Formats: sequence, structure tokens, C-alpha cells
Amino acid sequence: MHPQNPAAPTIPHHTTTFTSQHHPTWPYAGLPAGPQWAHATCRCGWTDYAESRHNARVLARHHRRLADRTRVFHPGWASRTGPREHNADAIGMYVSITGHEQAWAVADGIGDDTLAARAARYAAITGTSVAARHGSAAGLLAATDIVRGLDGPDTVMVLATPWPDTDGGGWDIVWTGDCRAYDYDPATGLLRLLTADHTRGEQIRTTFAERYRTEPAELEELAAAHDHVVYSSVGTATASTLGQTTMIGPRRRLLLTSDGIHQAVPHRSIATIARIFTDPEVCARKLTLAARYFGGRDNTTALVIDPQPAVAGRQFP
Ligand SMILES: [Zn+2]
Repeated sequence: MHPQNPAAPTIPHHTTTFTSQHHPTWPYAGLPAGPQWAHATCRCGWTDYAESRHNARVLARHHRRLADRTRVFHPGWASRTGPREHNADAIGMYVSITGHEQAWAVADGIGDDTLAARAARYAAITGTSVAARHGSAAGLLAATDIVRGLDGPDTVMVLATPWPDTDGGGWDIVWTGDCRAYDYDPATGLLRLLTADHTRGEQIRTTFAERYRTEPAELEELAAAHDHVVYSSVGTATASTLGQTTMIGPRRRLLLTSDGIHQAVPHRSIATIARIFTDPEVCARKLTLAARYFGGRDNTTALVIDPQPAVAGRQFP
């Protein structure tokens, strides 16, 4: 094991409670004045809040008793503000109290202002809470309604949910713009891109691939100049324009990234980081650090989701 990695957790649902003035999934907004608000959170990503520490503990106990032990994920995330005024990246993470429903998202607001950041946050939170129950595409289109209601700011986003085990398992992924999802296979060390950027640059690569067959460097130069221009967004998405892919099969480590990561960090370096850092939170943090190391000049956000082996029996009373 790598010395920087903590021991693999053996308890699928490890809960914590603490008091706070802020909403768990909406940390930028204070809670209304009232009782002593308290949070309950779990290693699996479930989070809720209650009107007292005691009630938060009761919620946490319910979660530990109820929560699914056969399909547990341990997420880890990190976000770093680049040399910009605002971090318009956002993550979304939703796990129901029973642990049966999950969704995760990374959104990247278009522009460098608070409105862009708000569009990304709203899209990620709304998208994941709807996607967990109704599927990834429904989640993204719910986010579209919210973003259109903001009347101006827009965002791009990638959103993932587990594909039902009864249909073969795997991931259901939707996206707009240039946020990405990767599958990392620890058995082979291979990192596979699951999404295709909705950028003019990527369109140019596809359209002119045949014409520039003998001059790939020239095509790359032509396309790279347009890699930052996205042609789809959450605010403009429709069922027919959003990107969607389903990966059927065993679930492995899933990485969701904003373009600040994958535009700066080479593919093979993302794969190396995914291999070395087995703790998802450490892995996400190292990805954001790598972007800075490689000279990235954008905000960087990574969300790493590790499926956990099923645990039989109950570990809590
Ligand atoms: Zn849990």
C-alpha cells in the first residue's frame, strides 16, 4: 500500500454528526435562525441535517441501520480555485438515507463571476437529487429547467448514476460541454474516457479526421485552438442534444472532472494518479494539484467514486 493512503475502510457506512450554521449540501447558504442545527454525514456521501445534535445522531443511526450494504460507494472530491476571481466549479452528490439511490455530478459555470458559480451549484444539486431517483438524463434536464430560470448564467456538467444491477450494473452518464467521466480499471491500470467533449475542437477533429489523415499534427493544432468553445450547456440542453453513455458491466473507480483538470493534466498522468492514490479523496486532491503542476490556469474540480465490496451481515446494532 502507498504510505500516503489510509487503510481501506471496512465499515461501509461510517457516520459523523456535528453542529453547524450551514446547510449540508448547500454550504454557501446559512440555515434559518432557530434551534442548534446539526449535520449528519456518512462516508458513503449521504448527508442530512436536523434541529439538534441528538436528532442528527438519530438520523445517522437510522442511516446505518437502513442503508444498503450491497451497493456502497465511497466518494472523494476536491476543488481548487485557479488564477481567477471565482471558482465557478461545483460538485453535486446525492445519496438517499436508505443508500439505494445515488448520483454524482461535476459542473463548471460558464464565465468567471458569482452568477456562473451559482448556475453550476444549482445545476449540480438539482441534477443529482433528481437523477438519483429518475436517472441521469432526467436529472440533467431538471437542472436545465433550473438554469433557464436563472435567466442568464449557464454551466456545463457531467452527471453519473449507477446503472441498475438487474440490467447488468455499470454507470449511466450524461453530460453537456467539456466536463468528463473516466473509468479506471485497477486490474489493468487502464483509464478510459467515457464521454466525448461537446467542443468545437472535438468537432473539428472528427469532421476533418479523413482530410488530415497524413497531417495529424496540423489537425491537432487547428482543433486545439477551439477546445475551449463548448457547443452544448445545461441551460440549452434537450433530450436529443445532451451526451449520454451507458457502461454496462462491473463498476470500477469512476472519475468526474472539470476541464481545468483534463485540459492541463495528460491522460497518462491522470491514470498514474488514479493508480497510486487508492483513497478517493486523496486521489481527487492530487488531480487538482497536478493541474497546477502542469501549468493549468483554470479552476479544477475532481470527484472520484469508488465502489465498495458488498458486506454481509450487520455491523451495527
Ligand atoms: Zn452511508
